[in-house]
Amino acid sequence: MYDEQSMDSLLDDRLRIHMNPNGSDELSLQRDDFYASAYPQSPQLLLRQHNFKLKVYYSNVGNCVQCNKRIRFAVASLRCRDCPLRCHTDCCSQLTVNCIPQPLVSTKRGHLSDFVPRAAPMVPALIVHCVTEIEARGLEQEGLYRVSSTREKVKRLRHKLLRGKATPHLGDKDTHTLCCCVKEFLRSLERPLIPMYHRRDFVLATQQTDPLAAEEPLYLAMVDLPQSHRDTLAFLMLHWQRIAQSPAVKMSINNIAVIFAPTLFDDVDLNLSNIVLWQQVLRVLLLQSPGFWAQFLEVEPLLPACSLDDEEWKRENYHSPSWQSVKTYFRSMVNLAD
Ligand SMILES: [Zn+2]
Ligand SMILES: [Zn+2]
Repeated sequence: MYDEQSMDSLLDDRLRIHMNPNGSDELSLQRDDFYASAYPQSPQLLLRQHNFKLKVYYSNVGNCVQCNKRIRFAVASLRCRDCPLRCHTDCCSQLTVNCIPQPLVSTKRGHLSDFVPRAAPMVPALIVHCVTEIEARGLEQEGLYRVSSTREKVKRLRHKLLRGKATPHLGDKDTHTLCCCVKEFLRSLERPLIPMYHRRDFVLATQQTDPLAAEEPLYLAMVDLPQSHRDTLAFLMLHWQRIAQSPAVKMSINNIAVIFAPTLFDDVDLNLSNIVLWQQVLRVLLLQSPGFWAQFLEVEPLLPACSLDDEEWKRENYHSPSWQSVKTYFRSMVNLAD
């Protein structure tokens, strides 16, 4: 699913897991011990590896994302430095939940860019977590994205994924609710996934009947999209292709194109001829090779400074030597009380 370069950078990222230079209330582990005992995740499923640290909590921090059991008081557990994920140390080896760093903006106005991580691939956590969970169940259920769920269940799940303090456990959510949550999220965006100004490029590119001939103009149309739209579209295309390939789901490329055409384009000028045109565009997109879509999902390293919006990160770094020396410097300058 992902190219070699991305996988290499994922493996390199593993080297970051042991560090906690300033940890005061945290335990530290030798990297090799940690690597061997707690980190045999299945990297082929993950876009980005978690940047774990061991942490002991003395307050209620909720449940483990993997097993959904409580993280116990005063017992070491794992927390990711880059995303809001917490799990038991024993559960780490089974973890399939992706590391999706939180967006920089805290006010979500409804544009896709408000919901994506600050480093590529810029795909919202809501989409990645739902898709990963849907696929982890083996794509065996008939009618994914066709069967509906209740409005209340979808709303609750959406709220957990967008507003929750930690990455929620999704193992107890039914698959159709996960699918509806993805659909509803895409529908609620201020600008559709293929925005109005880019629609013409996609229509022209896909007028070639041969998917191979469409590849070059399509690539140019993709490059022109805002990055959050480009990455999310590529990620969803790969997911929908896997759905179409699973006979048990009974969702052909045509079915997927019919369901998502009005959602991915703009429904301002929704009429029959537009819908037919958009369905044709989506069919051609879905017929592109998985390699075509995977090229847009490069994993970009996350710069530590990017974590500035993370409250816990700020608290920890407040005690870092560099900040301490700044404080000391200022105290000597203006005689600040401690
Ligand atoms: Zn657990
Ligand atoms: Zn993470």
